[in-house]
Amino acid sequence: FAQYEPNTIVSDACASYSTLDDLNEAIHPQVHAVTQDSDFFSHYRLNLYDKKCPFWSDEDGMCGNIACAVNTIDNEDNIPLAWRADALGALEGPKATHPGKKLQQERPAEKPLQGQLGDDVGESCVVEYDDECDERDYCVPEDESVTSKGDYVNLVDNPERFTGYSGPSANQVWETIYRENCFNKPLPPSEPSSASPVGFSNPLQAGAAMDLRNVIKSHGQRQGVQQAIARGSGKTPVDELDFDDECVEKRVFYRVISGMHASISTHLCWEYFDQKTGQWFPNATCYKERLHNYPERVSNLYFNYALLVRAVGKLRGHLPSYTFCSADPAQDRQTKALVESLSRAIGNGGEVFDESAMFKSADAVGLKEDFKFRFRNVSRIMDCVGCDKCRLWGKVQTNGYGAALKILFEFDEKDPSKDPPLRRTELVALFNTLDRVSHSLDAIKKFKGMLEGQEISD
Ligand code: FAD
Repeated sequence: FAQYEPNTIVSDACASYSTLDDLNEAIHPQVHAVTQDSDFFSHYRLNLYDKKCPFWSDEDGMCGNIACAVNTIDNEDNIPLAWRADALGALEGPKATHPGKKLQQERPAEKPLQGQLGDDVGESCVVEYDDECDERDYCVPEDESVTSKGDYVNLVDNPERFTGYSGPSANQVWETIYRENCFNKPLPPSEPSSASPVGFSNPLQAGAAMDLRNVIKSHGQRQGVQQAIARGSGKTPVDELDFDDECVEKRVFYRVISGMHASISTHLCWEYFDQKTGQWFPNATCYKERLHNYPERVSNLYFNYALLVRAVGKLRGHLPSYTFCSADPAQDRQTKALVESLSRAIGNGGEVFDESAMFKSADAVGLKEDFKFRFRNVSRIMDCVGCDKCRLWGKVQTNGYGAALKILFEFDEKDPSKDPPLRRTELVALFNTLDRVSHSLDAIKKFKGMLEGQEISD
């Protein structure tokens, strides 16, 4: 495939496959160390079980395989000290209330609001503020406060790999996600609705659900898509879209989703389960059928890598002042050192991805709102995923891309004092998403070697 030529520039990014591969070879061990070796980046709190799918009722779509299960941390003793309920509760007490979003935005960058909590307690140790959407968010936030429903999950103990989740439920989720890409359909006004759809409690969310339903309805949805798949093209209608006429923003939206899908496929192929032998193994046929035969999917994966690298690069001004607290000072120092070393290796990331070309046209403001709105919908669709493990990683990754988009389009390197706050969950999701895609690039290189080996022996 011409697209796999090492010197070919990845569409909509600024770097070639080989440049991104070389960069990945250099930083993959560091990204891996940050996410695997620190409590801060391996522990994620999210509401995995209590949010109902807001778009359809799908009790039948639940995956009962053991591989779909998630090990949540049920014993408080296994949660790093800083995030135990009593620690968070203490910080929420009358003497040390959380600073609150407004105050955080107003505080000067060089004067973190830490006084009440003791100088060694950074903002990131404090309970996250509520799950309200900031207008600059691209994702529905995960609420880490002690009063919210949710579980801590050690991501290292719950690797993303083959679960066996498939069939109509999985298909419906992917189809619905790709429908969000249909920018040409006008959004209905997000007026407060007296009859909020199930699961939505505020007008913005109610508007989002109405939007999605209209979009789905307007496309004759499920039946049409299934017919297309049944016709045997093996592609969704979106796979076949001609993007030549599309503006860069719409292409980018599609690439982010398709690249995320490609990364999930890479991981399920890389750690595939052989039911006969009970062994996990890298399944090259799976890779060939889902990725290698579709170079545009691989290209979208590389595109996501460039986008995430640039987002982490753009964050570098903020990282030195961040406190990676786990209540274990030695580990905190080590985490900080790992993050800073990774940050140095990435630089500002500007040579692999340039976001400045986006949202520049006359209709940029509306287009950006539309983009954000649709991406938030994608994050809500994750509550419809019928496999706990897939839902976990789906949520981590949509939150990670949401954080990356927020950094790319809402952060200003020239004046960081006005940058919106980044929640702990967003930072953790961003680094873990980079780790996922970084691992996918590595796995694809190995898969290609396996296919070449097969060709030689054939
Ligand atoms: P699917 O991957 O379901 O794809 C559906 C259709 O989309 C394909 O027929 C094709 O036309 C199109 N398509 C496929 N890839 C792309 C792409 N990259 N870009 C554009 N179009 C594409 N399974 C696991 O084993 N482990 C997991 O961790 C896991 N996580 C998941 C997370 C989410 C959010 C979802 C929705 C599903 C997850 N699954 C996971 C299921 C997995 O993604 C597949 O849905 C399942 O393996 C069935 O695959 P399929 O062959 O039907 O094609």
